[in-house]
Amino acid sequence: MAGAPFDDRDGLIWQDGKLIPWRDATLHVLSHALHYASAVFEGVRVYNGKVFKLTEHSQRLIDSGEMLGMKIPYTVEELDAATLETVKANNIVDGYIRPVAWRGSEMMGVSAQQTSIHVAIATWEWPSYFSPEMRKKGIRLTQSKWRRPAPDTAPVHAKAAGLYMICTMSKHSAEDKGYDDSLFLNWKGQIAEATGANIFLLMPDGKLHTPTPDCFLNGITRQTVIGLAKENGYEVVEREIELEELADAQEVFVTGTAAEVTPVGEIDQYKFTPGKVCETLIEAYEKAVGKTA
Ligand code: PMP
Repeated sequence: MAGAPFDDRDGLIWQDGKLIPWRDATLHVLSHALHYASAVFEGVRVYNGKVFKLTEHSQRLIDSGEMLGMKIPYTVEELDAATLETVKANNIVDGYIRPVAWRGSEMMGVSAQQTSIHVAIATWEWPSYFSPEMRKKGIRLTQSKWRRPAPDTAPVHAKAAGLYMICTMSKHSAEDKGYDDSLFLNWKGQIAEATGANIFLLMPDGKLHTPTPDCFLNGITRQTVIGLAKENGYEVVEREIELEELADAQEVFVTGTAAEVTPVGEIDQYKFTPGKVCETLIEAYEKAVGKTA
């Protein structure tokens, strides 16, 4: 169930410098962003009233904008402050934050040189992306028919709206077939990531292997989990990983702000049993974000 629609909720949204009533945070149908995907966004989490890695997310929003030629009209410090103000105003203790920046409606065509850049920040209570049952057994993925594009075909390191067109299509296709999510290969046919999360494999050498993020987001969670894995005595190898190597993987999990650390039980014909590594890193991540003491 989708719950209350996102345009019809109580609360306050920060838009272009100030908090306004939730339902008033609108934009015109002739906004450039809607037609040409000139938008970048973030996904951030609040745990126990504390925003996890806020500055990293604010910085990534600015960097994503820059990669699309959009200068976000706020500094990292201003975005951090605006985010904290929004969380406080909405009394969010455990929730999700969605900052977004987009080109406005001054021009309607491919060229958008004179469009203004807008920023909004919304937040809501949000417990878990995948249900606890799904997380225990491991989620089920199926390969997408789409691939992560080559780094010279799109601004692949930006968290840009346009790059999610194939994510929504892939996720829908997976859900229609009874799966939870989709696995993208990269343009060379090697393992890339899920539709909103990075992927890790525990291989027979006892090391964690994860694809080099050369054509997709080097997730903030991915970087956190690499650190936690090392702290817990696991070596992490970043390299190109072929799809067939899934046959040797002992444990598989995905990482993301929304997904946190979520075990994978199945990727098409390949099956995995979440074990010690998943358990250790779920626990370490929950501690790191302040979910548990
Ligand atoms: N890849 C994609 C496509 C994503 O949408 C996300 C979520 N932002 C990630 C990876 C993981 O990034 P992060 O850990 O920074 O949330």
